[in-house]
Amino acid sequence: MSDQTRFTLNETDLPKQWYNALADSPVPPQPALHPGTKEPVTPDFLSVLFPMEIIMQEVSADRFIDIPEEVREIYKLYRPTPLIRARRLEKALGTPAHIYFKNESVSPVGSHKPNTAIPQAFYNKAAGTKAMTTETGAGQWGTSLAMACNFFGMDLEVYMVKVSYQQKPYRRIFMETYGAQVFASPSDRTDYGRALLAEDPDNNGSLGIAISEAVEAAAKSGGAKKYSLGSVLNHVLMHQTVIGEEALKQMDLAGEYPDVVIGCVGGGSNFAGLAYPFLRHNLRDGQRARLVAVEPTATPSLTKGVYAFDFGDTAQMAPIVKMHTLGHTFMPAGIHAGGLRYHGMAPSLSALYDAGQIEAVAVPQVGTFEAAVMFTRAEGILPAPESAHAIRVAIDEALDAKRKGEKRVILFNLSGHGHFDMMAYQQYLVGGLEDYEYPAEAVAEAMQHLPKVEMAEV
Ligand SMILES: *Cc1c(COP(=O)(O)O)cnc(C)c1O
Repeated sequence: MSDQTRFTLNETDLPKQWYNALADSPVPPQPALHPGTKEPVTPDFLSVLFPMEIIMQEVSADRFIDIPEEVREIYKLYRPTPLIRARRLEKALGTPAHIYFKNESVSPVGSHKPNTAIPQAFYNKAAGTKAMTTETGAGQWGTSLAMACNFFGMDLEVYMVKVSYQQKPYRRIFMETYGAQVFASPSDRTDYGRALLAEDPDNNGSLGIAISEAVEAAAKSGGAKKYSLGSVLNHVLMHQTVIGEEALKQMDLAGEYPDVVIGCVGGGSNFAGLAYPFLRHNLRDGQRARLVAVEPTATPSLTKGVYAFDFGDTAQMAPIVKMHTLGHTFMPAGIHAGGLRYHGMAPSLSALYDAGQIEAVAVPQVGTFEAAVMFTRAEGILPAPESAHAIRVAIDEALDAKRKGEKRVILFNLSGHGHFDMMAYQQYLVGGLEDYEYPAEAVAEAMQHLPKVEMAEV
């Protein structure tokens, strides 16, 4: 075991391939269905939204996929990211556990999201796409794609959930600085947005609505614009596996192997990015790392949602996929973790959770910020509220190890920093935050609106 604190890799250690967990998953993926016909989607339908290379990756069964050299060159701006042993946090907790974290907050935009924004922009540019469309909640994803589109000389339209657009101007300005156009969603630029505004001019928007607008803007562009999603889909989770591939090498440098691997989950991409390479070793090499996905009690799609076919968006334009869902009609409470407010969960992760390969925990908001502040004071890094969910559970694991007098090796993903989330910290510091538990009745009600799918439950 090493006595170092920071485990860094050289540029030459940057992974040359992404890992595709579908190749090893013991549960076969369920096909995505057309939102209208409810038949499996064809590449033709998908090609309205995505370039062919992305579609091939989405359905690929290859275990490893080469990372293009152009993408690796841009990754080198911030990768390999450091693995840090949180020695000061261990000391503050008085735990015999060893706590490691992978620091994805060192990317130019401050989160893991560029890991997929860069290849998505690259494949679109290569296919001749002129402009891209996307949605964003608090702005992390929009910022990442804005940076990537700027690097590849493509225009970008971002549909930003209206409440965030109004309350969080800094991320919007960040996107505009990269050259992106940002619109408050619902907007008057799409048929769907106009219909919602006619019903209620004060509609605050949701991620599901913003997805619908971005999809519509691409679908009705006559091929000029393509759409991009920052989480949930197979290819997105696969691009994120650079995190776990690096972490495997770095844990090796540390001379340890994690007993438990932890990440927060919105759509599942940063968790999968860290955890799937360890899952490969569980499935193929007899390792037994526990893989723990952490969600807010306000958006408990794994722990309280239902595993069923549902629409990916509110307007029912996106494909129907089998996933853990709170229902596409879900309207989130105003919790301070914008990146964790999606109604569903990545299909591949949902299937693995259903099969018992992955654990899930829901944590409340106040305890999450308590963990965030403790981490900030011990390690000096102020985490994104999303990432703080993983920190909460890492601390709980360390305290459990202390109670049991066990040495436990804990690894979590620090998916981003919280420098744009200071109002949330301010509210916590003055005691103004509350816990919120999403009611089971609301889940039951939303299940009435799931699409009726005949071939389901294969
Ligand atoms: C977007 C975001 C998340 C949640 O998205 P996943 O796809 O589940 O990773 C988590 N942390 C940060 C910092 C984010 O920006």
